[in-house]
Amino acid sequence: MSETANCIFCKIVRGEIPAIKVHEDELTLSFMDIQPASPGHLLVIAKTHAANLLDITEADLLAVTLAAQRLARAAWKALEPDGIRINQFNGAAAGQSVFHYHVHVIPVWEGRKIGSHGRAPASPEELTALAGKIRQALV
Ligand code: 5GP
Ligand code: ZN
Repeated sequence: MSETANCIFCKIVRGEIPAIKVHEDELTLSFMDIQPASPGHLLVIAKTHAANLLDITEADLLAVTLAAQRLARAAWKALEPDGIRINQFNGAAAGQSVFHYHVHVIPVWEGRKIGSHGRAPASPEELTALAGKIRQALV
């Protein structure tokens, strides 16, 4: 079986499992993290499977980085955080749990602790509302 067949993010790209999408272009897809570290936590992925930073092509890396910048700007405008954290993990030892290259875009508010990503699910209603706000702020 190919590496992509069981990859959860490839399944999202193929439409086999749902995701609350915020932005899409030819090379990238951005959607709400299902277990967010903070409100507005987004994931930006390349549509083509690559396990991590070591494997991804330059074209996809550039496209994901530019999309992450665009989404960070939109999240900043829409949610008015005090900061935005960008996280990216390579290998289980570094904290990676989904082995399809992705960038976390995490809004941060002063005095509000950031949770651990991938721990507690948010409600679909809350994620949909946040996605709508961020989508509207996209330029
Ligand atoms: P990492 O691999 O960088 O540690 O984190 C993977 C992230 O993917 C986690 O924050 C987790 O909540 C998120 N995640 C895992 N499975 C799904 C899924 O099916 N849908 C969405 N939207 N996010 C997911
Ligand atoms: Zn994949």
